[in-house]
Amino acid sequence: MSLDGTYDEANIFALILQGKIPATKLYEDDDTFAFLDIMPQTRGHALVISKWSKARNLLEMEDEALAQVMATVKKVATAIREALNPDGIQIAQFNGAPAGQTIFHLHVHILPRWEGDPKGFVAHGHGGQADVAQLQALADEIRAHL
Ligand code: AMP
Repeated sequence: MSLDGTYDEANIFALILQGKIPATKLYEDDDTFAFLDIMPQTRGHALVISKWSKARNLLEMEDEALAQVMATVKKVATAIREALNPDGIQIAQFNGAPAGQTIFHLHVHILPRWEGDPKGFVAHGHGGQADVAQLQALADEIRAHL
């Protein structure tokens, strides 16, 4: 999918917001939702989405929704830092399939990074789909700082 297209009401993140598929929630307010990535690139890899915007990518995003999402990114990144003590935190956001986007509901990645660990993104994360109980335990650790 390119930068142009129509918002798909059945995309995975829309289904999460509708409660039709589960997610490991970290934080939620009236406008935004943060959860752990199911195929993490790093320990604590999180995603933040708008609950109301139908933007597929950054170029379509309302300024208000963008500000709300980024405020939650900062809040959750701060909690991840406190919980996991990473050496750095990468914030990433992809627009269009050629740029690496696979789900067309705008989302911002929060990636805690540690010295010496591999950098970059790999297909399906490191180790594929994470164990749900482990993700839940990690979410509890992070949520304790929110
Ligand atoms: P992107 O490549 O920027 O579109 O990122 C999409 C991200 O969503 C990837 O890192 C996937 O691992 C992640 N993902 C896919 N399905 C789910 C899901 N059901 N719950 C949480 N994260 C997911």
